[in-house]
Amino acid sequence: MLVADNVSKAFAGSVRAVRGVSFSLAPGQIMGLVGASGSGKSTLLNLLAGLADVDTGSVLLNDKRVPGPSDVLIAGHPDIRLVHQEYQLMPNVSIRENIAYAVRYFEKEYRTHRVDALLKLCRLTAVQDRLPRQVSGGEKQRTAIARAIADVPAVLLLDEPFSHLDLPNRLLVRDLLFELVREQQTACLFVTHDAVDALSIADTIGILRDGKLIQLGTPESVYLRPDTAYAARLTGRVTVLAEKYRPLLGLPASDSPDRLMSIRPEQVTIDESGVAVRVRAVFFMGSHYELEVELNRYASLRLLTTRADIQVGQLVNIRVNADAVWPLRS
Ligand code: ADP
Ligand code: MG
Repeated sequence: MLVADNVSKAFAGSVRAVRGVSFSLAPGQIMGLVGASGSGKSTLLNLLAGLADVDTGSVLLNDKRVPGPSDVLIAGHPDIRLVHQEYQLMPNVSIRENIAYAVRYFEKEYRTHRVDALLKLCRLTAVQDRLPRQVSGGEKQRTAIARAIADVPAVLLLDEPFSHLDLPNRLLVRDLLFELVREQQTACLFVTHDAVDALSIADTIGILRDGKLIQLGTPESVYLRPDTAYAARLTGRVTVLAEKYRPLLGLPASDSPDRLMSIRPEQVTIDESGVAVRVRAVFFMGSHYELEVELNRYASLRLLTTRADIQVGQLVNIRVNADAVWPLRS
């Protein structure tokens, strides 16, 4: 079990990069922390890996404190691996040797067997003899992951593992992590600026804002019941409106008209018995269309439909699922 207990870190110039972060992560679990650039993601990972010293709080692995670099000769913890955003592969040796280096202290026979298995798991067998600069970004990323998991760490940390990859490669890495965590019972924590990756793979997601973990829960709970407009917007398409607009949506009036509410676009349907609104924009999204409809001069609402016959300027009747309208704290 990896535990962060009220972990904080500030840099010179009073940048409070990580502020009082607490969570726990069990073996076989995947956690995704979502935060904008500069929200403290990389700093937090370095603290968790024992590669930077905490100012206050502590990081524990199986009830033992993970020491920071000022406490030990060689920074880093033997059971925790961090895959950096830039991969940090050795440029002058092959993909295979990059991975083999991580198990260099093992017996030769085991080493060969282990590297073969990792190449296969990470879909790298065909490119194993190439140098890092001769493979694609996705292959470099998977080499970095293979190297990190080679000696079966208890905890795998990944810094934006999806951000440089195209969709097919993102899905490949996602499936790989899923398989890895299930087979080896690794505890896996990744940080990302794109919640879509986190929603689909993580057991738990967290929202990081200015170094603070402002919400933590299952992907469904954070997506459907965000605490704040910030968390709502970070986790997907959403309309955030003041509750005074409820009657315009066909919903009962609110007693706190200034409070904000979030409405996910898939919770709004076209329905002949709903309220009439004018279509302001139509976006083709591949599997569906996203519509923007006008509630009045100041407010609009997003909704999804598979109907292909809707035109800008047209009137449509919409119904909002009242159970899915969620009040926000700010
Ligand atoms: P993220 O990975 O989410 O983009 P970082 O953890 O890299 O965020 O940075 C969080 C904040 O800490 C930023 O304001 C950044 O400028 C600052 N920061 C990060 N590393 C250092 C450092 N070594 N020295 C000073 N400030 C830093
Ligand atoms: Mg970063």
